[in-house]
Amino acid sequence: MKNTMAALAFLFTALAYSNIAAGVRPPNLVIVLTDDQGYADVGFNGCKDIRTPNLDRLAKEGVRFTNAYATYAVCGPSRAGLITGRYQDRFGASRNPTVDYTVENNGVPTSEKNIAELLQPAGYTSMAVGKWHLGTHPTLRPRKRGFNEFFGFLTGGHQYFPEELTIERLKDVTRKWDWYRTKLLRNETPVEIDEYLTDELTDAAVDFIGRTKDKPFFLYLAYNAPHTPLQASKKYLKRYKNIADKKRRTYAAMVSAVDDGVGRILDELNKHSIDEDTIIVFLSDNGGAKNNASDNKPLRGHKSSPFEGGIRVPFAMRWPGHLPAGVTYEHPIISLDIAATIVARAGVTVPANKPLDGVDLLPYLTGENKGKPHERLYWRWYDRKQFVIRDGDRKLITRQGRDDMLFNLQGDLSEKSNLAAQQRDQVTELQAQLRIWNRQLVDPIAPGLSYWNPKKR
Ligand code: CA
Repeated sequence: MKNTMAALAFLFTALAYSNIAAGVRPPNLVIVLTDDQGYADVGFNGCKDIRTPNLDRLAKEGVRFTNAYATYAVCGPSRAGLITGRYQDRFGASRNPTVDYTVENNGVPTSEKNIAELLQPAGYTSMAVGKWHLGTHPTLRPRKRGFNEFFGFLTGGHQYFPEELTIERLKDVTRKWDWYRTKLLRNETPVEIDEYLTDELTDAAVDFIGRTKDKPFFLYLAYNAPHTPLQASKKYLKRYKNIADKKRRTYAAMVSAVDDGVGRILDELNKHSIDEDTIIVFLSDNGGAKNNASDNKPLRGHKSSPFEGGIRVPFAMRWPGHLPAGVTYEHPIISLDIAATIVARAGVTVPANKPLDGVDLLPYLTGENKGKPHERLYWRWYDRKQFVIRDGDRKLITRQGRDDMLFNLQGDLSEKSNLAAQQRDQVTELQAQLRIWNRQLVDPIAPGLSYWNPKKR
């Protein structure tokens, strides 16, 4: 069995490279990213009260990851890591960035390449749909960053109902947080929408697949659901009359809308017979938030926290005919691996001075490589002077002025038992590894989300 798996893996790898050489199209990439969805809020991780048949189908037809991480515990930096395949602290996208568009570098700086930019030389057409939050400065918007098309909003969150979207553009915003009310942009033009936002985003994604199916494409579908404000349409709310708690009911409805969207995307791929030409990845940008009635159990903590509930996310990947189906993968992986995996398939070159931190997951998932994709994973909260390292089952949380916390996740998944006092040698060893990593990082290049200076305009 092992030999067969290895032979198959070799065959697939060899095919991938010979396909590129023969001019056969490299695989499409679809990333479905949700916002603040809890680890336990998908059926494939055991959720009982929210039904996610389409996400479960994606996972069942591919690989479900139990130890998958985001690179940060809130939106902006996590997205900067995911989209570049590099730890965002290497290029200073370390804060949830301001949406003040007069601030330069308020997202991923142009010195870095994102997945769309990396795939451009291989002939990919790319579209970003939904939440951007990777820079509102005019030089950092999607169509300046390798995406042929954009439909969505530039900010970190949004109202869900069309009638709430009354502000034409960011420059018309006079009060903080009113940027949640800007009209959606189709490329650079504000447009009216008439449906619930999650459905509008799905429509745009499905339309793009239908139009672009004959050539390699990258679809970055970043739903803002189930991020606050908790708003769901009747169509989805009526599915959850059985949930008594109003917040949880609305949250469930919001997740259900995403799940319907994923179902429509899977159907669209199937309709055009491009299932086997398409890698589809589903994940959340960070753990469930404290304020959106999400559920990270059995993990400790929530969005923004250094505990597993902040950074471990629901994650599944499907590529029929190339990846095994119905498999659970338990070694730690990270959102950074998505870029490395598609870059390897597309045969494009990454700039030598900006190597990816992610790892091509394919050999690990086919069984060709029995090892672990990562020796260690790292996190930094610059303004808190806080760091996390995971090395095997050991996890150290260290913060200036506070006691260290050392956990062994094998047997203590909920991080209840702090071993730091008993195991000082392990703490010292992990701190040394963190220092090596930290030396490679730079300071933040832009102010945080609360920075907003309307007087400048
Ligand atoms: Ca988020």
